[in-house]
Amino acid sequence: MENFTEIREEVAKLCADFPGAYWRALDRESAYPTEFVRALGEHGWLSALIPEEYGGSGLPLSAAAAILEEIQRAGCNGGACHAQMYMMGALLRHGSPEQKREYLPQIASGALRLQAFGVTEPTSGTDTTALKTTARRDGADYVVNGQKIWTSRAEHSDLMLLLARTGPASPKRTDGLSVFLVDMRAVKDNGLTIRPIRTMMNHATTEVFFEEMRIPASTLVGEEGRGFRYILSGMNAERILIAAECIGDAKWFTEKSTAYANERVVFGRPIGQNQGIQFPIAKAYARMRAAELMVYHAAALYEAGQDCGAEANMAKMLAAEASWEAAEACVQTHGGFGFAEEYDVERKFRETRLYQVAPISTNLILSHLAEHVLGMPRSY
Ligand SMILES: Cc1cc2nc3c(=O)[nH]c(=O)nc-3n(C[C@H](O)[C@H](O)[C@H](O)COP(=O)(O)OP(=O)(O)OC[C@H]3O[C@@H](n4cnc5c(N)ncnc54)[C@H](O)[C@@H]3O)c2cc1C
Repeated sequence: MENFTEIREEVAKLCADFPGAYWRALDRESAYPTEFVRALGEHGWLSALIPEEYGGSGLPLSAAAAILEEIQRAGCNGGACHAQMYMMGALLRHGSPEQKREYLPQIASGALRLQAFGVTEPTSGTDTTALKTTARRDGADYVVNGQKIWTSRAEHSDLMLLLARTGPASPKRTDGLSVFLVDMRAVKDNGLTIRPIRTMMNHATTEVFFEEMRIPASTLVGEEGRGFRYILSGMNAERILIAAECIGDAKWFTEKSTAYANERVVFGRPIGQNQGIQFPIAKAYARMRAAELMVYHAAALYEAGQDCGAEANMAKMLAAEASWEAAEACVQTHGGFGFAEEYDVERKFRETRLYQVAPISTNLILSHLAEHVLGMPRSY
């Protein structure tokens, strides 16, 4: 697997301009890292996956994974913008030639932000096919009614990829859902209301309300009623990229832990001389390396055009667990200072916890493996 050393070095250089103090100040105010996202966009990192014919750099998924891993490894937070990298995949694979020509070059240049993904709803949760938001055809428009929750970055995005019900859930329960590329600028406060949700980490997430929101029929992506399949088709890339972010987090925690363990002297010797300090750090490191191999494996299958659903999900689960284990070891190694804002450990600890729940929770990954890989009965 190519290591993308030059890309990693360039990304690390950019991230050095956004040190812990930058993220701490934003964290206190729950503010969005506008300058950081702008810098990533200007350097073309967020358009890595967009083909060259549409103005992107046409890099493989593993290069995008390397970019996100380095962002996290540098102590930054790619969660503010990672969706700009992969959400355009639905448009690329299923959009009309006109939609691609209109939107992809603008997304590639950063002129348009596509980083809001309206799937989860408050009542249906993980049971996506039970979602209640509807889009009703009315002449040249669709009229949308309903609500989404946890629509991250909606206040910092021009476009939203929205999943809504346009027809009955039959004969299959995955039928009748459609994907729309909503230009939020046109409907904000005119059918669309966005309310921020304060969370334990700074993630710019929101709840979104649609009330008779009128959008042109030309915003439909692909065929009506096939939206669930379109969303599913993008999920492997999303899982692999988020797994790479977790690997970056795990590396950040481990580097921070070892540095502190070597430098902190208690009872006349570095704390890192005690096996009680060494072992949790070493164990988390071993778990991270194993998860990293699964990320590489899933990315290689993805790039070869092979089915990688199980591997992408396992990569995400294992990497999220490894980053959490490394985070836990890091707090413990730092003792009281693990809780002090200025060390950034507590901030990263809060940030990395998310990935065992979103974009898919661990239980659902285990159910998928049990049913689809191991052949046990469906449990829900
Ligand atoms: C900060 C944040 C950002 C997010 N960003 C986005 C976004 O941009 N767009 C978007 O659409 N969504 C987003 N999400 C939503 C996220 O994908 C969901 O929170 C996640 O998939 C879990 O769904 P839920 O919260 O509805 O939990 P629920 O579905 O209510 O599940 C609650 C718990 O029960 C478990 N559970 C449920 N059913 C089963 C079962 N059958 N067997 C075993 N366990 C089960 C789950 O694993 C989970 O632990 C975000 C969430 C958060 C917290």
